[in-house]
Amino acid sequence: VSSHRLRSVDTRSESISSSLSILPPMENRPPSSSSNTSFTRVYRIRSNPRPFTIDTSRAKSNQPVVSLCARKIGFTEYPSARDDNKACDIYWHNVVYSDIRNVVGTASSRVNKFPGMTELAKKISLTHSITSMQRIFPHEYSFYPKSWFLPAHLNQFRAYCEEEERRREEEGSDRKGWFIVKPDEGAQGTGIYLINNPSQLKNEQQRMLVQEYVADPFLMADQLKFDFRVYGVIKSLNPLSIYVAREGMARFCTEKYSPPTSSNFDNLYSHLTNYSLNKGHGAYVHSTNLQDQVKGSKRLLSTVFHQLESRGLKTKKLWHDIKLIIVKTVLAMLPEVMLHYEHHFHDAPGPQCFQIMGFDIMVRENGEPILLEVNAAPSLTIDHLMGGVTDGDYVPVYRVRSVVDEVIKIPLVRDTLLLVLNLLEEEYNTKGVSSSSSSQRESTQDDMGTLKTRRKPHLSEIFPTRYGHCSGHLLFLDKAVYLFMQFVNLKQTVNITITGIRQLIKKCNLSNIVTIDEVEEKMKEINYYFTGDHNTYSNGLCFHAFLMFFTGFQSGNLRSKRIHWRDFND
Ligand code: ADP
Repeated sequence: VSSHRLRSVDTRSESISSSLSILPPMENRPPSSSSNTSFTRVYRIRSNPRPFTIDTSRAKSNQPVVSLCARKIGFTEYPSARDDNKACDIYWHNVVYSDIRNVVGTASSRVNKFPGMTELAKKISLTHSITSMQRIFPHEYSFYPKSWFLPAHLNQFRAYCEEEERRREEEGSDRKGWFIVKPDEGAQGTGIYLINNPSQLKNEQQRMLVQEYVADPFLMADQLKFDFRVYGVIKSLNPLSIYVAREGMARFCTEKYSPPTSSNFDNLYSHLTNYSLNKGHGAYVHSTNLQDQVKGSKRLLSTVFHQLESRGLKTKKLWHDIKLIIVKTVLAMLPEVMLHYEHHFHDAPGPQCFQIMGFDIMVRENGEPILLEVNAAPSLTIDHLMGGVTDGDYVPVYRVRSVVDEVIKIPLVRDTLLLVLNLLEEEYNTKGVSSSSSSQRESTQDDMGTLKTRRKPHLSEIFPTRYGHCSGHLLFLDKAVYLFMQFVNLKQTVNITITGIRQLIKKCNLSNIVTIDEVEEKMKEINYYFTGDHNTYSNGLCFHAFLMFFTGFQSGNLRSKRIHWRDFND
């Protein structure tokens, strides 16, 4: 191994913030406040390296935090890839690379992305996955706002608004319902606006998601709307194993919230919690240390849980509900994740994939958590940019360390690396951390008491452990996807074509229930419902469209026969 390519294991200490050993165990309990503890500590680099390797040559913006964590836990890092033809144990990529098959060494290697996950987490795909589950398990998937996909669902959206209008008139209520319109591929709040009538849509033909606006967020004394970014980790697909990070982030608006009206609906600083939007507002509060963050615009989840508790909210229940949302959302996405994996690695054993996912969750006034979005590539940066043009004056742009981000993301990445190599338990079952020099020992006197106590992992399993027993029945679509795969040419596509459907109908003896003409007509309609495109029918139906095809479709403009699962002869 050439030395310039290999970043050797560094046994020096680095001063960095870590909440690892000072936050209490989460397990089934809500995060508790960390606001009354001291945070800055010497963060030691492991003196005895472990025999594991990690390739960060494609980690891009994730590289600083991954590199730091790898050194901390004694992995050998290859920042420019190996040149000795040997495979690394872990490959860390910033996105899913199309040549993943060639890059990732062997089937025993791990890579931090599932093929297809980026697409599957986008707003419209996520909505399709959750809607399929809502049709089968309506009460268990009520945590996601009612959503329509434009232009395909425009008529349904209009019909819903008319129905609501009628209902309000009957009740004598003048409270109008509001909707939030978001571009499918949008991020960081771009292109988002609020409406209370379909006629206000800026472009009915654009691919957009329209969603019921949740107008009753839980507010604290400052009256600023906020939401949480909670991190989940899919450790493996088979067997399915999901973890949650006990620390996350809360992002606050910069202007006071009031429910939308025709005079305030366009004030995005009070309706959208995005960091990228609010950081440009004069009222944005950057925190330079962890004591300040309790009043900052970006706070620790544990801090906000403590603040919520003191305002009377039962955070134990909230945390339980949030973890269930994560499990249920992953279960809804699972069939298509499996499908994409099989498509990508249809002819050779693929690597073991894992992924850190960001779940954006807001809390309603009544304490109920609502899922807003899933992010397949949550930011792992631990600093932020300051500067730019302020009041007409140019202020040089410079990077500033973000202590809140460090406290959340360093333990998250570190534990994820340990988790996927099955080292998490071993790491946390050893008491404390070996110190490397006496001077450091002196400088960390205050921390020693904490270090000697048994530390708790930042990640804890939520599936199958803990929530498997109450969500196992939701794995139902797993079985459907195996049926689907029998009739899909996985080498070429993840969609079922008309030929595949014909074969399925024949094989399952369904030809006495539907004719081929009916099948074609229905395929066209369902394809439009899912893609918003009349011309893509020959590309076949995606898995969720296939489910709708076979489980019935109760829309006004599609007269369909309803085929029941029991109609299948096998
Ligand atoms: P983006 O990917 O552009 O950030 P999001 O779906 O996360 O889009 O929405 C941006 C912000 O808008 C959220 O962080 C949240 O503050 C607000 N928001 C999104 N959806 C809703 C909703 N249904 N009800 C209330 N607020 C919402």
